[in-house]
Amino acid sequence: MTLRLTNTAKTYPDGTKALLPSELTVEKGEIVSLLGPSGCGKTTLLRIIAGLETPDAGSKILFDDDDVTSLPVEKRKVGMVFQSYALFPNMSVRANIGYGLKMQKLPKPEIEKRVTEVLEICQLQPYAARAISALSGGQRQRVALARAIAPRPRMLLLDEPLSALDANLRESLRDELAVLLREFHITAIFVTHDQDEAMAIADRVAVMSHGHVVQSGTPEELYRNPNSEFVAGFVGNAMRLDGRSEGEKLHLDGGVLDLPADGTGQVVFVRAEDVQIDPDGPLSGKIETVTFLGTHYRLGISGIVSNVLTSTHVGLSAPKVGDSVKVSIKPDALMLLPEGTEAE
Ligand code: ATP
Repeated sequence: MTLRLTNTAKTYPDGTKALLPSELTVEKGEIVSLLGPSGCGKTTLLRIIAGLETPDAGSKILFDDDDVTSLPVEKRKVGMVFQSYALFPNMSVRANIGYGLKMQKLPKPEIEKRVTEVLEICQLQPYAARAISALSGGQRQRVALARAIAPRPRMLLLDEPLSALDANLRESLRDELAVLLREFHITAIFVTHDQDEAMAIADRVAVMSHGHVVQSGTPEELYRNPNSEFVAGFVGNAMRLDGRSEGEKLHLDGGVLDLPADGTGQVVFVRAEDVQIDPDGPLSGKIETVTFLGTHYRLGISGIVSNVLTSTHVGLSAPKVGDSVKVSIKPDALMLLPEGTEAE
């Protein structure tokens, strides 16, 4: 199913404009993540799509060619997985998954068939007879997903479905969820405030800020070509190089860098992996912090820009705190962005 929102907005009764007029298209089978900081309107947008929230007049929501704008939630045929899974704790996994189908009054053999099918996809067969209360957090998450998918919804909506889990489990389930969603071959929209989660799961990420979708693209596009300071900082923590640009040169406290193009009127951003210790580098700085992170070191370097610049350093050893270092940044690693786009 293709989802198309045009001019869709939400003003709550107290006057809060949670969603400003927005356009969003999600293609058939696409997995889209709504990513943004707390309060930017992600949940509001998801609830409007589900039919749990009435959008402002003038909004339009199409499921394929059906205008569902004024259709109530129960008629939209969407599957939902929310933060709290709201499973029945004393009922078995099988009964939980079949619950919605029973409510739909499907014949018993059909219910059995569908439940068995999703149990298999979600690798829950060994737990089919267990009560929910006897499952781990990760297993419960899979049951919630299986239950949402069993009625064969037109679309799946997920609101921070991993947020109740601890950090380790979250990471392993993230990859699992990415695989499962693709196996379902279903259009899915996934809300998160965690950029790693959005990048790992989605085909396309819509970044939101203050009630707007500010940029939408594949994870690679957003990471490599952010269109604003806000997206550069929010996706992949790019750092601003505050300095004075003169044509294709950027003058910083710690030296002069070559820019990939004329930097007049632009601000320059760089990512930590592109800030490299290099004895022949044009920038001079001093090591403030060294953090060993297993696969790499994270270095904090002062003296190059007004803040401490972070560098990702791969190697068997690292400079020491207090060392003077030379640093290079390749021109093509620098991102030139229009000034004044730090927050939309
Ligand atoms: P979070 O990640 O914290 O859940 P979010 O991006 O999902 O945030 P929303 O829950 O969509 O954000 O909220 C967007 C804005 O609308 C916020 O400023 C919030 O306070 C406001 N808001 C949400 N629900 C209501 C309501 N029922 N009445 C008034 N304002 C609301």
